[in-house]
Amino acid sequence: MTSPLSLKHCRPGPTKRSSPPGAGAQAVILPAVQREPLVDGHGRSIGDVRISVTDRCNFRCQYCMPAEGLKWLERSSVLDFEEITRVVGLLASIGVGDVRLTGGEPLVRKDFPKLAGMLAQLPGVEDLSVTTNGFLLGRDAAALVAAGVNRFNVSIDSLQQDKFYELTRRDALPQVLEGLHTLAAFPEAHPIKINAVAIRGFTEDEIPAFVDFAREFPFEVRFIEFMPLDADHAWEPEKVLSGAEILAAINAIHPLEEQPREPSATAKVYNFADGKGKIGLINPVSEPFCSDCNRIRLTAEGKLRTCLFSLHETDLREPLRSGASDDELIQIVRDAVWRKELKHHVGEPGFIQPARTMSAIGG
Ligand code: SAM
Ligand code: SF4
Repeated sequence: MTSPLSLKHCRPGPTKRSSPPGAGAQAVILPAVQREPLVDGHGRSIGDVRISVTDRCNFRCQYCMPAEGLKWLERSSVLDFEEITRVVGLLASIGVGDVRLTGGEPLVRKDFPKLAGMLAQLPGVEDLSVTTNGFLLGRDAAALVAAGVNRFNVSIDSLQQDKFYELTRRDALPQVLEGLHTLAAFPEAHPIKINAVAIRGFTEDEIPAFVDFAREFPFEVRFIEFMPLDADHAWEPEKVLSGAEILAAINAIHPLEEQPREPSATAKVYNFADGKGKIGLINPVSEPFCSDCNRIRLTAEGKLRTCLFSLHETDLREPLRSGASDDELIQIVRDAVWRKELKHHVGEPGFIQPARTMSAIGG
């Protein structure tokens, strides 16, 4: 087994971008166009967009992709950098200033740091973050930080090499930890959050190692309840290891103190009572946080989704490619967002799992 405890300590930096990013320092920063903010039909303000930059991935996590992979989108179907930049710029002009880049695995998209740099410079983009499996961070961390990405989530489901392999179907833990090490050396990249999907029968044994990890290193370890978005349709309620169960297990090792929840936050955050480190619990199944959800999503081929569990979506690619004006595109977004689902129905009778897997949505 690889020791996860070979990372150097480093100090957390600021959470928001305090100055324009380094990439393209000569670029002119224009003020954001002032338009009416984006709200849904239930009165929720939308301020956060998750952009899937590719449906492809170099891992095959059991809770997400099938072992053989999925049928990838044709390259011409995927939004190009200019199209993504236009959509993000328009969204930023209506108050959607938190932008998370995800996938699939975003770092497998060719020239991904270039795209990050284009988005970081857009007026109104206040926070630019990336969710990654970490495998290519050794190669790309410096370029992404230089491009202006100011927050990173790195997904690691186990700190044991064999169990990591079992779940992701890739023997990649050493390289992921190396990538995390590379990233952690950049003060601008902090806080770094570690995402672990919590699955009954798998994650219980991981908890003590993650507790040590969160206490020793400046990473918030966050456990995410397993959701029915897996390609294998193996999800069942009994496989969800709930946040409450994880909380009890951690409290038995090192007591935690709950922190006030920030508006629209997905995670409940806890500090260790002795001040050493943080744990986050994301409990979408046992404690849904739909009532103040401020998020929308854009798939790699340009479908706007207003909920992870949406059964319908709105195409932006066709209007983008057929010459729609900014105002027309914004109206399409407003109409779709107006119909944003009040809540998800996971665990309720009649729940229907979306056809898309998490990798094809952009988690
Ligand atoms: N490939 C990148 C990664 O794994 O970080 C980004 C995309 S991945 C779809 C985004 C996040 O969704 C990851 O943290 C992953 O663990 C999580 N995820 C995927 N499938 C999930 C599921 N069925 N339930 C809960 N979380 C899931
Ligand atoms: Fe790939 Fe992320 Fe899905 Fe794992 S969770 S298969 S790394 S997209």
